[in-house]
Amino acid sequence: MIPGSFDYHRPKSVQEAVGLLTQYGDNGRALAGGHSLIPMMKLRLATPAHLVDLAGIADLKGIRADGGDIVIGAMTTQHELIGSDLLAGKVPLLRETSRLIADPQVRYVGTLGGNVANGDPGNDMPALMMCLGATYQVAGKGGERRIPARQFYHGAYFTALEPGDLLTAVRIPVPPAGHGFAYEKLKRKVGDYATAAAAVVLTMSGGRVATCSIGLTNVAETPLWAEDAARILAGSALDAATVKKAVAAAEAICSPASDRRGTPDYRTKMAGVMLTRALARAKSRAAS
Ligand SMILES: Cc1cc2nc3c(=O)[nH]c(=O)nc-3n(C[C@H](O)[C@H](O)[C@H](O)COP(=O)(O)OP(=O)(O)OC[C@H]3O[C@@H](n4cnc5c(N)ncnc54)[C@H](O)[C@@H]3O)c2cc1C
Repeated sequence: MIPGSFDYHRPKSVQEAVGLLTQYGDNGRALAGGHSLIPMMKLRLATPAHLVDLAGIADLKGIRADGGDIVIGAMTTQHELIGSDLLAGKVPLLRETSRLIADPQVRYVGTLGGNVANGDPGNDMPALMMCLGATYQVAGKGGERRIPARQFYHGAYFTALEPGDLLTAVRIPVPPAGHGFAYEKLKRKVGDYATAAAAVVLTMSGGRVATCSIGLTNVAETPLWAEDAARILAGSALDAATVKKAVAAAEAICSPASDRRGTPDYRTKMAGVMLTRALARAKSRAAS
């Protein structure tokens, strides 16, 4: 339960942090809230020789509107997401999901950037970002680039980040006014990771689905964007038969691990149940 020894660095700018991460390569790790990384270090599942603490970089903080997008600095905590009036008005799904992450102690220090960069399929924010069509802003030795969340996750703890890369912000296109949204998460107890969870954002027009996007958490090695399921729902009134077909399409892309949260069959079925509930709740919140 004691981590290996490491050198501690506290850069003051993104440029300095990227320089350190580039210099140390695979031996260096960014430290954000530390609520995923430090437990891994204590278990010796991660043994970085250099920790690059991002807490001193003011540019990585804050939530702002930028045209039709909301831009959230990587070091913004889950607690700050819950408290943001801008987010509550524009992307309320973020508050709903943040409140389902762990407990207040974790949310006071756990960051959005750490949650999405971690690559743990159990983290809640990645499927949400896929559902919302978010883009990650990344600074690296070659300069800045943007990576769509839907292309970021390659395997468990394996993402599009290269050694030396720093995720600086998450850019979310604001969903249309009147959109319906929901995040439904099954967990064994308060503070647990999801057995299965589903995020839905949709718009309705004349009582029918105009647009729909679905993300699934912890039912595969990566978060999932359930594109086929959403396509089945487009144009429907979310009647029971169509929802059943869409749920079957979503379940078909699940391949969860067997763990203390249940067998693959059980967790796949629970993903379907969470999706059915999320669709109903999103519909009830949407202007039609
Ligand atoms: C008891 C407990 C329960 C939890 N339950 C949940 C839960 O239900 N749902 C959930 O989603 N999470 C849960 N978490 C995890 C928590 O939300 C973490 O805080 C979060 O996953 C990681 O954020 P962090 O800021 O702590 O990142 P850290 O732990 O500091 O970093 C995580 C990883 O991301 C990398 N990283 C961090 N920031 C950046 C960056 N800006 N650029 C590039 N790489 C970066 C780090 O190098 C590290 O590899 C739980 C944690 C605990 C301790």
